[in-house]
Amino acid sequence: MQVIADLHTHTLSATHAFHTALEMADEAGKLGYRAMALTDHAPSMPDSPHIWHFGNWSTMPRMIGNVVMLYGVEVNVMDTKGGLDLPDRILATQDWVVASIHSPCIPGLLTEKEANRLWLGVAENPYVDCIGHSEQQHYRYDYDLVTKAFARNNKVVELNGNSFQVRKDGIPNMRALLKACLKNGCRISLDTDAHSVRQLRENMSALFALVEEIDFPEELIVNASVENLVAELKRHHRRCAQEIGGILL
Ligand SMILES: [Zn+2]
Ligand SMILES: [Zn+2]
Repeated sequence: MQVIADLHTHTLSATHAFHTALEMADEAGKLGYRAMALTDHAPSMPDSPHIWHFGNWSTMPRMIGNVVMLYGVEVNVMDTKGGLDLPDRILATQDWVVASIHSPCIPGLLTEKEANRLWLGVAENPYVDCIGHSEQQHYRYDYDLVTKAFARNNKVVELNGNSFQVRKDGIPNMRALLKACLKNGCRISLDTDAHSVRQLRENMSALFALVEEIDFPEELIVNASVENLVAELKRHHRRCAQEIGGILL
């Protein structure tokens, strides 16, 4: 198993991450990746950059070295209707939007009913590309019901390599989530959620083991090939799709 891109990474625009965009891209190039997405934390997370950070990605180059750069955000889900903490006008200009639950933004536990409602709401949002680290036990949802909605709405379910370190409660849930995705034809991505270049290198291998164990097909893994990635950007009507397709294909 190998991937051609990492679609969830952080830069030192948050002080709890440690490397610049250039350093992250350089490491991705060394790993042989063709593309990577920088997805810094949206403003409701403590220690996140100002909203201007996400409006100003247009100053950055499409290529750094040999790596095609996608500039995006890890947006916060703020309520059980699936409300997010960036306006649509900003989300529309991003190359890749990962929507995640973080405890500073959704305090406490959710019932399964609340978690279902939250993700079904996010599934309807046309500006969300990917569902981040949703396997957490505190926010357990009905994987069969909701992955059907994700598949129908072209939402990619992320398996997150950082969860093995920082969200261990959900590790047993990852297998069940993956099986529901397989059953319902829901596409996934394998991401490191790296906050350092070391995590870019090291966070992927546990995910490879998981997909290999259940023989998850590569055609459902959006970062398994350049063809899959470009097709996904097109499905999401991302403005960058044509330019990136022209470079990668
Ligand atoms: Zn972070
Ligand atoms: Zn996160």
